[in-house]
Amino acid sequence: MQLHNKILIGLAAGVAAGLLAKLARLDWLMAALVFVEPVGAAFIRLITMIVIPLIIGSIIVGAASLGDLRKLGRIGGKTVFYYLLTMTTSVILGLLLSNLIRPGSRIDPVTRDHLAEQFASQASAQLKLAERTPSIKDLLLDIIPRNPVKAAADFDLLPLIFFSLIFGAAISLVRSDDARAAVLHFFAGVNQASTIIIHWVMQLAPYAVFVLIAVVVARFGVDLLQSLLIYAVTVLLGLFLQTYVTLAILVRVFGRINPAKFFRRIAAAQLFAFSTSSSNATLPLSIETAETRLGISKSVSSFVLPLGATINMDGTALYQAVATMFIAQIYGVPMDLGAQLTIVLTATLASIGAAGVPSAGIITLIIVLQSVGLGARVESGIALILGVDRILDMSRTVVNVTGDLVCAVCVGRSEKAMNLPAEEPAPVAAREG
Ligand code: ASP
Repeated sequence: MQLHNKILIGLAAGVAAGLLAKLARLDWLMAALVFVEPVGAAFIRLITMIVIPLIIGSIIVGAASLGDLRKLGRIGGKTVFYYLLTMTTSVILGLLLSNLIRPGSRIDPVTRDHLAEQFASQASAQLKLAERTPSIKDLLLDIIPRNPVKAAADFDLLPLIFFSLIFGAAISLVRSDDARAAVLHFFAGVNQASTIIIHWVMQLAPYAVFVLIAVVVARFGVDLLQSLLIYAVTVLLGLFLQTYVTLAILVRVFGRINPAKFFRRIAAAQLFAFSTSSSNATLPLSIETAETRLGISKSVSSFVLPLGATINMDGTALYQAVATMFIAQIYGVPMDLGAQLTIVLTATLASIGAAGVPSAGIITLIIVLQSVGLGARVESGIALILGVDRILDMSRTVVNVTGDLVCAVCVGRSEKAMNLPAEEPAPVAAREG
């Protein structure tokens, strides 16, 4: 059976178990889910554990195989341009929908204050995390690591990508054939060993997904969903359109692939993103998907995807636009064209700044709220939307990861570095087994 089908079964069974525990009030089932909850966390750790060696190995090998700094610059330019463009269109889509649906005008003040009160303490915990969010200037400077080993140890992906790219490009210029081959073989080995570990870990994915989803569903407040339903639907509708209209058009026009085929091939990565809420944790699987299921060469995928997991977040950008408009509408703060243009800029930047981990988007949302004069409403505004954030986080992560893969396809095609396999390859786990 294909991996994505197995994950899908895990997901469906997880939803069923979660619903059963919640709606039938089965305490023993709830206790059992709480007992196995660490399995989900262990799985995310196992897959995250491989991200650093994978990035170092695959970027160094990818950059060295290009063997040409100009080519690297060209791929980099196309990638960054694509990322900025799609994030901007995603924000604009979010703004259009918020103006059309006006989700914030549909909540009465009593529900509003009730929600704000219920989530006040969680919101202030999020705000504390945000105090550590660096400025844009620091963010840019921090791309250059003082010490690449420290960047790796701190899981700072952007400086690590920067270093690995330069190091890989330099290897291709090493004069001595022996020395060059020795370093390259070493990193190629690191890369291959990382891939083997991913295959092992992925065999656990369906079970881990079951646990992750069951716990989320069992804890989810259905009553909350009712009051925030229109807001949640606005975000989900935007995410759907961004994926199945905007990104699908890009796949068709620039990637020259039938979108239905593309979405079938990336299904495992999408389901995985949904279950883990983390672009970083999904990165190993997106690289695998790009290389073996979409036939994109390592020279493109090894650069485009790690960078995408770190900076490209179409889903987060759209969500931040809708959330900001929702909070403004709920408190009756008018958002004129100027304010909305500010949202376009700051939501794009705030999404770039968001890390590829769960809930990162709600933390950098603070930057957007402050930029349009909602500073005084930050705490209560975030408290308002926290109740449904988990499900929106899962959904926006799917779009974030899809956007990265679409970029890999577009850049891969334009660089003639893509050879789509005619047949769907065997499932990830089966090949190793
Ligand atoms: N969880 C998202 C991701 O990893 C980031 C976010 O919170 O929006 O891509």
